[in-house]
Amino acid sequence: MKIVNPATEEVLAEIEAADAAEVDRAVARARQAFRAWREVAPGDRARLLRAFARQVEEHAEELAQLEITNAGHTVGNARWEAGNVRDVLHFYAGAPERNHGKQIPVPGGIDVTFQEPLGVVGVIVPWNFPMVIMTWGVAPALAAGNTVIVKPAEYTPLTALRLAELALAAGLPEGVLQVLPGVGEVAGARLVDHPDVGKIVFTGSTEVGKEIAAKAAGQVKRVTLELGGKSANIVFADADLDKAARAAPMAVFDNSGQDCCARSRILVERSVHEEFLARLTAEVAGLKVGDPHDPGTAMGPLISAEHRARVASYVTEPYFQGACPAGPGFWFPATVLTGDQDRAFHEEVFGPVVSVVPFDGEAEAIRIANDTAYGLSGSIWTRDLGRALRVARAVEAGNLSVNSNSSVRYWTPFGGFKQSGLGRELGPDALAAFTETKNVFFSSNDFFASE
Ligand code: NAD
Repeated sequence: MKIVNPATEEVLAEIEAADAAEVDRAVARARQAFRAWREVAPGDRARLLRAFARQVEEHAEELAQLEITNAGHTVGNARWEAGNVRDVLHFYAGAPERNHGKQIPVPGGIDVTFQEPLGVVGVIVPWNFPMVIMTWGVAPALAAGNTVIVKPAEYTPLTALRLAELALAAGLPEGVLQVLPGVGEVAGARLVDHPDVGKIVFTGSTEVGKEIAAKAAGQVKRVTLELGGKSANIVFADADLDKAARAAPMAVFDNSGQDCCARSRILVERSVHEEFLARLTAEVAGLKVGDPHDPGTAMGPLISAEHRARVASYVTEPYFQGACPAGPGFWFPATVLTGDQDRAFHEEVFGPVVSVVPFDGEAEAIRIANDTAYGLSGSIWTRDLGRALRVARAVEAGNLSVNSNSSVRYWTPFGGFKQSGLGRELGPDALAAFTETKNVFFSSNDFFASE
C-alpha cells in the first residue's frame, strides 16, 4: 500500500498489506500470548500500561508529526491526539485492580461474579483519527486482560505501527498488541470471520458496520460499533448568539469535517436565523485553510482525491465558500449551504460542508434534529435551563453538549443511538465491553467433612 501525505501528495512509505494467512498467524500469536497475559497480576498489568503511556509521552511529538504527514491533521490537533493517547492509557492503567465482580446474597452459600477477559480482540480503525480511535479500543481491552490485533485504515497505518513498537519498548510481551496494516475486505474481514477472535471493535462507516454486525452474528461474536453521524447544532433565539456563531464553524470544520461528531446541521430559531447566518459566514471567511504545520491553520486537506470528489458531489449551490490552496494536496474549502432538501442535509458528508436551516419553536427543533437514521452527538444553545433539559432529553443522540460543542472526554462514555453505533467506548465502564460476567455459586456445604 502506498502511504501518501494528503497535503503534498508525496509518497511517505510503501507498506505490505496483510493477507488472510498473515491474519491467521497473528491470531495464533495473540491466542498464545493471551494465556500468559490474562494471568499477569492486575498491578503488573497496570504498571505495563503506565510504562506504555510514558513511552507515548516521550514520543508524543514524533507521533504528532506522523499524524500531520500521514493524515493531514493540523499541528494543534495532532499534539492533542498524542496527549489523548497517553491519557487514555493512563486512565485504563488504573482499571486492572478495579475490575471488580460482585458478591450477591444467596441462601446456602455465596455467589460471586468474575469479569473474565474475552480472549483476542480485533480493533478495526478508520482514517480520520487513527491513533486516538485505536487507543480507545486497545487500552481498556488490554487492561481487562485481552490481547489485541489492530487493523488500521488503508490510508493511515503509520501511528498505529509506531504505537505497537512503543508498546514493546514499554515491556508489553510479544503478541499482546499487534498491528496489521491491510485492506478492509481482506485483513479486516478475516479478523471478523476468524473463530478465535472473540470481539470486534469497529469504528467506521455505517455501511461497513452493518456488514460486520451481520457477519459477527453468525458466530454470536461480540461487537462494539462506532459509526456515522449527522449531528444537529440547535441554536435558540435566547442563546449567546455571538458565542454560538463563533463556536459553530469548528464544531463541523475541525479535522476538515472528517469527524463523526461533526455538527453538520445547524438549526437556528427563525427570529435570529439571518443574524446568525451573517455572523457564522464572517467567522467561516476568517478560517485559514492550508499548511497543517502552521499553528494558525484551522483546516488541513481531506484524506484523498477520491474522498474530495465525494465531498464535492454534495455541493451544487453554496451559500458561501471560503478559500483553500489550489494544490498539490486534497484541498476543499469550508462550505456553507442553506437548503434542507438536498442530499447534504440528510447524508453524512464527512467533509467541511455545513447546512444552516431555520426552525420555529422547540418541538420543531427536536423533530428536525431527530429526523435522521443517525444519533451520535449534538449541541443545544440556550440560556433557558428548563428548555436545555427538555431538549437534551428529547434529542436521540449519545453525546450532547449544552452551550458547548465538545463531545469527547476519555472519562465519560461515548457512542451512538440508532444507526450511529452499538455499545459505548471510554468512560468508567469501558471494561464491561471487554469482559464476560461469570457467575459462580459456592455451596457452603461439602467443603469440609462435617463433624
Ligand atoms: P470505512 O467503513 O470505510 O473503514 C473503516 C475501517 O474498516 C478501515 O480500517 C477499513 O479498512 C475497514 N473495512 C472496510 N471494509 C471492511 C470489511 N468488509 N470488513 C472489515 N473491515 C473493513 O470508514 P472510513 O471511511 O475509514 O471512516 C469514515 C467513517 O467512520 C465515517 O462514516 C465516520 O462517521 C465513521 N467514524 C465514526 C466514529 C464514531 O466513533 N462513531 C469515529 C470516527 C469515524
